[in-house]
Amino acid sequence: MAALSRLLRHNAPGRWMSSVVAESGIACPPSVARMGVVPARDPACPSVQWVFLGCPGVGKGTYASRLSRLLGVPHIATGDLVRDELASSGPLSKQLAEIVNQGHLVSDEIIINLLSKRLEDGGNKGESGFILDGFPRTTRQAEILEGVAEIDLVVNLKLREDALFAKCLGRRICSQCRGNFNIASVDIKGEHGRPGITMAPLLPPEHCMSKLIARADDTEEVVKERLRVYYEMSKPVEEFYRKRGKLIDFDLPGGIPESWPMLLQALDIDDHDEKQTAVA
Ligand code: ADP
Repeated sequence: MAALSRLLRHNAPGRWMSSVVAESGIACPPSVARMGVVPARDPACPSVQWVFLGCPGVGKGTYASRLSRLLGVPHIATGDLVRDELASSGPLSKQLAEIVNQGHLVSDEIIINLLSKRLEDGGNKGESGFILDGFPRTTRQAEILEGVAEIDLVVNLKLREDALFAKCLGRRICSQCRGNFNIASVDIKGEHGRPGITMAPLLPPEHCMSKLIARADDTEEVVKERLRVYYEMSKPVEEFYRKRGKLIDFDLPGGIPESWPMLLQALDIDDHDEKQTAVA
């Protein structure tokens, strides 16, 4: 915990904020600040210490990684840290495999140790700011984070449950380049006044096609359990940030081409290459 607190304090936003803006040519999100969601602490631009929340399969990784490239801050996904630890066959890996493959949460202590280490490594490389994905996942984690860092904005991604299931079951990773893809083609018709939704698959390039693997925790049974755990343990985190006026709810209207421009609009981020990144 000491390492996490030292590093998060060290990552003061003011130091790097103006260089992100200068180098990227990206407009800051003024409307978010105007709405009072983000406490603007710098006249040039609010900082980027953001959190992405949302159910398994909603696309936290997809949108958080795109924003991280756009804003020039690291995307830190605790699920990736857990999977790296699993793959390392280190002392924790057997214990972690059992927990993750049952769809349960890893202990706060383990996850905070993994996150501390990731931040420490990033700090040594000169990283600052972050977009957290998959953390915090319990109110206790949110309280610990609040004690060591001022989170500017929390984006809560939302998608109907039948689409979440399809996206989880269609998720694939290239075993060679580690790229994330999705073979699900979602086409849910609207009914009883509820709108339908279509989401095109996110297919890999030809050379990854034969190397695709599915996550061991993306089976129907485990996804059901992960959703149950989300509603029980992680849903209260939404309330935690809503009460603090930091939460933005974003209902995904469809796949990446429809959702990405609307998300940028909701955050009032001006991406000059928006058209290219939406379809990439
Ligand atoms: P999802 O796609 O379901 O959001 P992630 O890739 O974020 O899944 O996480 C995979 C697994 O890693 C989780 O089911 C959980 O076991 C573990 N994990 C990730 N982040 C946390 C966290 N903040 N607290 C506890 N466990 C976590």
